[in-house]
Amino acid sequence: MSKIKVMNENLANKIAAGEVVEKISSVVKELVENSIDAKAQNIVVSLTEGGLKKIEVLDDGVGMDKEDAILAFSRHATSKITHDDDLFFIDTLGFRGEALPSIASVSLVTLKTYSNNSDCGTLIEIKGGQILKEEKTDSRVGTCISVSELFYNTPARLKYLKNESYELANCVSLIERLALSHDNISFVLTNNERVLVKTSGSGNLHKCIHEIYGLNVSSKMLEIKNSNDDFDLYGYICKPEILKSNRNHFITMVNDRVIKNNDLNKAINDAYYTYKPDTKYPIVVLKINTDPTLIDVNIHPTKQDIKISKSKEIYELIYNTIKDALYKSLLIPDAVKKPEYNEIKDQYVENFIKEQEEDFSTSKQVVMDLSYPEPLEEEKKEEPIVINEELKRLVLYPVGIAHGTYIIAQNEEGIYMVDQHAAQERINYERFLKCLKNKEITTTSLLFPITIELSSSEFLSLKNYLDILFKMGFKVEEFGLNTFIFKEHPTWLKTGYEEESIHKIVDLIIKNKGEFDPVKFNESIAITLACKMSIKANMRISNEAAEELLQELVLCDNPYNCPHGRPTIIKFSTYDIERMFKRVMN
Ligand code: ADP
Ligand code: MG
Repeated sequence: MSKIKVMNENLANKIAAGEVVEKISSVVKELVENSIDAKAQNIVVSLTEGGLKKIEVLDDGVGMDKEDAILAFSRHATSKITHDDDLFFIDTLGFRGEALPSIASVSLVTLKTYSNNSDCGTLIEIKGGQILKEEKTDSRVGTCISVSELFYNTPARLKYLKNESYELANCVSLIERLALSHDNISFVLTNNERVLVKTSGSGNLHKCIHEIYGLNVSSKMLEIKNSNDDFDLYGYICKPEILKSNRNHFITMVNDRVIKNNDLNKAINDAYYTYKPDTKYPIVVLKINTDPTLIDVNIHPTKQDIKISKSKEIYELIYNTIKDALYKSLLIPDAVKKPEYNEIKDQYVENFIKEQEEDFSTSKQVVMDLSYPEPLEEEKKEEPIVINEELKRLVLYPVGIAHGTYIIAQNEEGIYMVDQHAAQERINYERFLKCLKNKEITTTSLLFPITIELSSSEFLSLKNYLDILFKMGFKVEEFGLNTFIFKEHPTWLKTGYEEESIHKIVDLIIKNKGEFDPVKFNESIAITLACKMSIKANMRISNEAAEELLQELVLCDNPYNCPHGRPTIIKFSTYDIERMFKRVMN
């Protein structure tokens, strides 16, 4: 008697649900993606208690006739692919035909749908995979699917659903991403009838960013556009003055599919190198279009990641385009900050449960408008001043030093605070980097050669990579047990700091084990040496030294950030100062 049995379809669906339906937002994702695939122009997602009680997705897409509405709940039933080859030319978000049967196997689903080629609409109620009701209904074009009692028959899964605000936060982030990836569709997300996300579907990505993040962010985004033989890149990146503490705002889409891909994220993060601290991350919205044969969308159970052939080419395109945009358009951060939309919204998400408990009946009538107020005429007119332009017109006059650390400078456009350490780090960094890149190396002999003693493993490591030191202009030889002797060094090493610099460089070579990209290696050396050799905070400097520092700073390629990404200079514009003192009233 055979022990192996083919499992019934419902059990197979329940097992598939384990992969597809993990949390509330994964149900929302599948339903909304179906609405997008159905060519909806308006999608309304209504959650009750963060979706724990009910998830409803209403769209004005093509809908389904009765036959399709029933078929949609069968395993592997899809209208999106037919042949094997279709798998390599996928232009819809769904294609596996497993979301609806999986969701319906672990919940109560009510589907109301109508398509133009039917006489009337269809209503289906299905619980635990069993159809409970199937009847005619009214004829509103589109589909409405509601899901309740999620995981009622899989208690182990139910246990893993988190609290309302956690599930809700995931849904907000999901809908924001979907809205950004389809800026031609209007999205509304409500929880207990309160609006959390609302986009107009204008087809304008910048407007969509404004609707989601508010004015403070949208006014600080830079448009980017570029392409190479295989990829078209379009999107917006934020100036380094508005950074977040995690990578959740790296929003990348390939052929309109929102994905989380390590290679793309790395390209973004690397491009901001030295423009931001390592622990802060920008808001970046990138749309990439490519030939579908260059990507494989079938590598992740919930289709969140894809495999990209030519990953080196896409890395370089993203990296170079962002780096270029940042270089061309950097600004001095404005000291006067407007409230951020997200701060308001985060606060709202945290508080809404409390409020709703206190005032459930009235809250139902209140629809909170979270859109940021339209910019004032004055703000609209105010064009950002690019510092390169500004500096070309302008000397900064030091007027004093505050807290022994910040040089206060002024000109007719405003008052500036310059962090003396950060500014000098930037100056030294660029100076060292230029020297390191220079092919014509001038060297100088050490009157007293420097010996450095290493552990045996460090000694062997360095011995393998001595050519790196030779190329940099060092004359170095073995000198007894685990020791090297340095007899010459490149002239750019700062006098008095030769030994310390050599130690730093040797440490970096050993740490990198020779496997490095020469550009990054030079950057690391320049950063390390620059930091070490710069005046510190709380170190008194004369007014003349401050003046010299400012003059050198403005000549830097990027005078706005230290090489660790902190700002070097902050501006209080004359207008803002006058506004704060109420000399001007608008
Ligand atoms: P997939 O999206 O991978 O095809 P699903 O299980 O998500 O699989 O959906 C099955 C089918 O049901 C889809 O291929 C589509 O034809 C139909 N369908 C689902 N949702 C909608 C909707 N909102 N509007 C129109 N058709 C839909
Ligand atoms: Mg689907």
